[in-house]
Amino acid sequence: MFGLKSESILKLDEEYHELGDYAGKESRWCPGCGDNAILAATQKLCRDKQLAPEKTVFVSGIGCAARFPHYMGTYGFHGLHGRALPVAQGVKIRRPDLNVFVNMGDGDCCSIGTAHWIHAIRMNMKMVAMLHDNNIYGLTKNQASPTTPIGRNTATTPHGSLLKAMNPLTVTLGVTNVSFVAQVVEWIPDLLYKVIEQAFNHKGFAFVRILQRCPHFMPTLWDQLLANPDNLAVLDSENGVQLSDATAKVYKTRIAHDNSDLHAARQIASLEDKVPLGILYRDESVPTYDELKRPRRLHAPELAEAVLNKSFDRFGIFPNNAGPIGD
Ligand code: SF4
Ligand code: MG
Repeated sequence: MFGLKSESILKLDEEYHELGDYAGKESRWCPGCGDNAILAATQKLCRDKQLAPEKTVFVSGIGCAARFPHYMGTYGFHGLHGRALPVAQGVKIRRPDLNVFVNMGDGDCCSIGTAHWIHAIRMNMKMVAMLHDNNIYGLTKNQASPTTPIGRNTATTPHGSLLKAMNPLTVTLGVTNVSFVAQVVEWIPDLLYKVIEQAFNHKGFAFVRILQRCPHFMPTLWDQLLANPDNLAVLDSENGVQLSDATAKVYKTRIAHDNSDLHAARQIASLEDKVPLGILYRDESVPTYDELKRPRRLHAPELAEAVLNKSFDRFGIFPNNAGPIGD
């Protein structure tokens, strides 16, 4: 009896994944880089949800944020600039059983990857898409990205960026079939974790914009938000994110918001005097691409075999024109 008990305890231990099971290589991000906080929150989520590492995939493009898959102890695909989303969609369409996460920078997603971004929203395939938005190209050293603030001196705009920054939230909220949009900052761990968790629980394409510190190229970018928490407004919704007491004591500014109201979400996303945090929009009724595409008739083993045999028969040589056996 004792032996049996030990075996069952051993079995349970083997199945439980520790935080360390989700750790990949040692991070090479700069000290103080906000990507480290996003990594920590994501690893914690994987542990809390007990996601099987062999059933979990992180897909990225190119940039500092795109090193994410290397630092996870799961499967990963570090791809081409701007192309993380089509790769992730390819993974998901062939292996719907896998947990798919996408990590993109602002240059990656909002510049070269824009077309993929828009169509990924429209196709609404289940995955968590994290936009690590530090308002700059970091890896290629300080070029203006679509979210760089107007007037900012960068390597490509030495006299100041000429264009007003793109707002990734309003862009996402403007696309047909949008089903989940959230915004968070990486320096509030409680909120960061809970927003990513809600994104993971969503049934379709969950887009999370994460305002991220880049102390190397943009050391003062978020100073006003860091110095005065009242510049951040946490969205108060019945089915939104509930802050811990400790976080709620620091971040007191709230906006009451019905996150099923797309028009209200767009208005909040356009605010210029406050940075809204939490879930701006969620609609679980939008069908995913999987639900819309034709039933997988070919995936039934007997049908797959029949199709395969039919193909082989095309190349068969039969005596006396007898045709394939069984004809
Ligand atoms: Fe992070 Fe900026 Fe360093 Fe890149 S350059 S690793 S974004 S701090
Ligand atoms: Mg960037």
